[in-house]
Amino acid sequence: MSTIFKKIIDKEIPASIVFENDKVMAFKDINPQAPVHILVIPKKEIPTLNDITLDDSEYIIEMYLAIKKITKDLGISEDGYRVITNCNSYGGQEVFHIHFHILGGKPLGPMLTI
Ligand code: AMP
Repeated sequence: MSTIFKKIIDKEIPASIVFENDKVMAFKDINPQAPVHILVIPKKEIPTLNDITLDDSEYIIEMYLAIKKITKDLGISEDGYRVITNCNSYGGQEVFHIHFHILGGKPLGPMLTI
């Protein structure tokens, strides 16, 4: 089933796009949780991390390379940042098109634990 991110890929709804190539798109999160909050998505509809296969390798690598470029371009790569993928209900996933959250722009503190 298509998601709102597929509509962003197809340019049916607007987004604040910061990077795009033939495999990947990245845009600002509409509800930022840090001074920098970017979502990186593949241009292939993969619902969750549980669904990835070796056939998706190029997409996953391109997502990481996009993260490297975006964080450098935004000037947060040296200070550092956090990359998160939420999966299914316990992970708090809301949009079922796999994505990385890039969070940065300030010290993020410890990760949430038990
Ligand atoms: P997740 O909970 O990991 O599935 O994250 C989904 C993220 O998508 C949330 O952080 C939302 O704020 C974000 N989001 C939902 N709709 C949009 C949109 N139209 N443009 C940008 N970000 C969005």
